[in-house]
Amino acid sequence: MAKETIRVYARVKPLGRRQQAGNYSVDDEEDLLSSLEIMVPRDLADGFVNNKRETYKFKFQKIFDQEAKQDVIFDSIAKPVAECVLAGYNGTIFAYGQTGSGKTFTITGGAERYSDRGIIPRTLSYIFDQLQKDSSKVYTTHVSYLEIYNECGYDLLDPRHEASRLEDLPKVTIMEDSDQNIHLKNLSLQQATNEEEALNLLFLGDTNRMIAETPMNQASSRSHCIFTVHVSSKEPGSATIRRSKLHLVDLAGSERVAKTGVGGHLLTEAKYINLSLHYLEQVIIALAEKNRSHIPYRNSMMTSVLRDSLGGNCMTAMIATLSIDKRNIDESISTCRFAQRVALIKNEAVLNEEIDPRLMIVQLKKEIQDLKDELELVTGKQRTSELSQEELLQLDELIETFLKDNDSDSTLDVGADMRKIKYCFIHMKQLMNHPKTSDKKLLSQNISEEEDTNKESGEEMEKLKDLLQQRDNEINILVNMLKKEKKKAQDALFQLNASSACSTVLEQSLSINLEDRQSPSSCFSLKGAKDFSSSVHRLPFLSRQTGGKMSLGCQEAFEVFKRDHADSITIEDNKQLLKQRFAEVKTLGEKLNEVRSKINCLKGEITQRHIQRAALAVSSPSEELNMFDPVEEKLRMQIEELKKSYETMFNRFKGLKVEIEHLQLLMEKVKMKMQKDFEVWWSEEAKSLQEKPEMVTSANTVTVYPQFIKSLQHLSTNSFSEITRVSPNEDPTGKNNSITFSNPTLKARTPQSSSTSIPLTGDSQADADILAFMKARQRILQRKGLENK
Ligand code: ADP
Ligand code: MG
Repeated sequence: MAKETIRVYARVKPLGRRQQAGNYSVDDEEDLLSSLEIMVPRDLADGFVNNKRETYKFKFQKIFDQEAKQDVIFDSIAKPVAECVLAGYNGTIFAYGQTGSGKTFTITGGAERYSDRGIIPRTLSYIFDQLQKDSSKVYTTHVSYLEIYNECGYDLLDPRHEASRLEDLPKVTIMEDSDQNIHLKNLSLQQATNEEEALNLLFLGDTNRMIAETPMNQASSRSHCIFTVHVSSKEPGSATIRRSKLHLVDLAGSERVAKTGVGGHLLTEAKYINLSLHYLEQVIIALAEKNRSHIPYRNSMMTSVLRDSLGGNCMTAMIATLSIDKRNIDESISTCRFAQRVALIKNEAVLNEEIDPRLMIVQLKKEIQDLKDELELVTGKQRTSELSQEELLQLDELIETFLKDNDSDSTLDVGADMRKIKYCFIHMKQLMNHPKTSDKKLLSQNISEEEDTNKESGEEMEKLKDLLQQRDNEINILVNMLKKEKKKAQDALFQLNASSACSTVLEQSLSINLEDRQSPSSCFSLKGAKDFSSSVHRLPFLSRQTGGKMSLGCQEAFEVFKRDHADSITIEDNKQLLKQRFAEVKTLGEKLNEVRSKINCLKGEITQRHIQRAALAVSSPSEELNMFDPVEEKLRMQIEELKKSYETMFNRFKGLKVEIEHLQLLMEKVKMKMQKDFEVWWSEEAKSLQEKPEMVTSANTVTVYPQFIKSLQHLSTNSFSEITRVSPNEDPTGKNNSITFSNPTLKARTPQSSSTSIPLTGDSQADADILAFMKARQRILQRKGLENK
C-alpha cells in the first residue's frame, strides 16, 4: 500500500438542552476536504476591550455535524479501515477530544439504544460477517482490551479483574525485541470465534473498566482504552499466514489546564491535564517535521503501543470529537489544531505476512522423506538414520587396517555415506585423544555406556511419570475445591441479584439455536433462561464494601434508589422493547418451523410422485412417463417460493437475535451503572453521617438525601426487627444490653442513642449502615412527633 496520510475526521456532538451553541460553520463539499470555521465571539474576550472577531478555519477529510448518525460514521470512517484489516494490513481508529465530547459514544456507543452502537460493535459485526462469507481462507480472531492509566497498562479482560481493583492487577508491561517490535506482557488475547463472543468480551472489558473506577479515580476520562481485534488468515495448505491488528482507541480527555481564554490575539496553548497526551503531541509534532530522525515514542506507554499506528505500518484514522457549545470553544480549537498536525503524518501500511514455523517443519520433513526415498532408489539400499552394529564393526576394521598400513598412498574408502564418514572422523578423534585405549575397547565401551545411560534414563523416566501423576491428582483436587468455592460465591451473588426487578427480564433471555438451520429434522426453539451472568462477570459492589454482606436496610434503600433513578426509564423502555422483540422472534420462529414443515411436505409429495411414476413405468412402460411432469414442476416452484420467504424470515430472525443480545448487554450495563451510583451515594451518606453526628440528631439542621428518607418510610417493621435482632456481640445474659463497638473510631465519633439500644454485628461497614439507619429513623420519628404536635 502506498504512503498515505492519516485520515482526520471531525464529529460535532449535539448540543444539550441548556447549552448555547458556539458560532461555527461547516463547509462540506463532496470529493474535497471539508472545512470547519469557528468564530470566537467577542463576549468571550478576556476582560479587556477586544473588538476583533477571530475566525479559525480547519480542514478535515469530512465533518460530521450534530445530526450525524452512528451508521454513517461507521460506513465512512470505520468500514474502509476494517476492509484493510481483513486484507492483512494493520488499522487504527482513535477518537480525540475533551471529556464529554463524544469519544466513548463514537468508539463504543451509547448505553440506551441499539441504534447507538458505536464503531467497535459495528466493526465486529462487519468483520465476522465478511469472514463467514469468505470460505477460501481459514481465519482466526482474537481480541484484547488494554487500559492505560497513569502510565500503567491493565488487562481489562483479565479474569481476576472482578476480585480486584485496577491497581491490584498485574501490570501489562512493554517489551521490545531485537527487531524493535513491541510486545505486551500480561495482556491476554482472548479467542472470539463469532460476533457474540467478541461482543461479550467487549462488554466484559467495559464492565471491568467501570468497576475499577472509584469516585477518587475517575479513570474513564483520564485513561486510554485500546480495544484490539487480531485477525489471522491462511489459505488451506499454505505455510504463509497473514496477521493484522485493528486498534480501536478511546483516548483520555484532552482538556487542558491553565486556560488563558480566547480573548487575546491568539489562543495561547494551555497544558494537557494528561501527561501521556502531551507525549502523544510531541510524537505527532516530531512526525510532522521533515528530517526528524528521532521520534520520542518511548516516552510513554501509549505512544509505544501505538507506534505503528503513528508514522508506521498502519492505516490510521482519527476522529476529532468536538463539543461546540460556547464554553468549550477554546477546547474545540485545541482539538482541531491537534487534528491538523495529525493530518500531516504519513503512514505506510504493508501486508503482514509470515511463514508459520509449524507448517514449515511439516513441509521440510516431507522434503527430507522425499530425498531419502530418492537416495534409496539410486543406491538400492535402505537407509536408516543409525548405522547397524555390523556396519560399525566393519568400519572399525577398515579404520584399523588403514591406520596400520604403512603405505603413504593407502586410502580409507567407506563409500558415499555421510554417516560412515562422520563415524570415521569421530573415531579418529577419540584415538587422538586417548591413544592408549584400543579402538575395539572404545567401541564396546561406548556400547555398554550407552546401555547404562539408557537404563538410567528409563528409571528417571519412571520416576518423573510417577511425579507427574501425583501432581495431576493434586491439581484435580484443587480444581474441584475451586469450583465448589466459585459455585458458593455465585449462589450468594444470585440471591443478591434476585432482589433486583430488572434482572428478571435478563434471566428470561432466550437463546436461539442458529445451528439448527443446517439440520432438517430440528426446529427453531426458544430455549428458556440462558443466564447471561455466566458469560459476564457480575460484580457485587456493595458486598465488596461491606465485606461480603449487604444489610437489609441497604437492600431496601437500593430498591427505592433504583425506582427513582433516571436510568430506570431506560431500563423500562428497553424491557418493553425486549418484550416486543421476544414476541417477534417467537412468532418468527413458529413461522419458520411452519415453512420448514411445509417444504418437507412438498418434498415428500415429490418423492411420492417419483415412486408412483417408477411403479407405473414398470407395469406399463410408456413414453409419457419419462416426460416432464407438470405437477412435480408446480411442487418445485412452490418449494422455491417457500425457500425464498424462509430465507427472508431467517435473516430477520438472525438480525433480531443480535439486537436482543445487544439490548440485554445494554441493560446489564445500565444496571451496573445504577448499582455503582448507589454505592457512591450510599458510602457518601454513611460517611457524612459518621463524620457529622450532630446533623442527624438535630431535626432542624438535618439534610438527608430525599431518597434515603423515602427508603426509610418504605421500611417495613419486619425490616427493622431484622436490624435490631440480637447480635452475637450482645451481652448473652441480657443484663448489660449496651452497644459493643468493634471499631474504636466509630465509638469515639458516634454519640450513643439514649432511647434505643443498637446491637451491632462487629463488621465496621455493616455497623455504620445500621447506625445510619437508626439515626435517620430517630429523626423521622422526631419529625413525626413535631408534626403531630
Ligand atoms: P467522552 O467519552 O468524550 O467523555 P461521551 O462519549 O461519554 O464523552 O459523551 C458524553 C455524553 O454525550 C454521553 O452521555 C453521550 O451519550 C452523549 N453523546 C455524545 N455524543 C453524542 C452523539 N453524537 N449523539 C448523542 N449523544 C451523544
Ligand atoms: Mg469517555
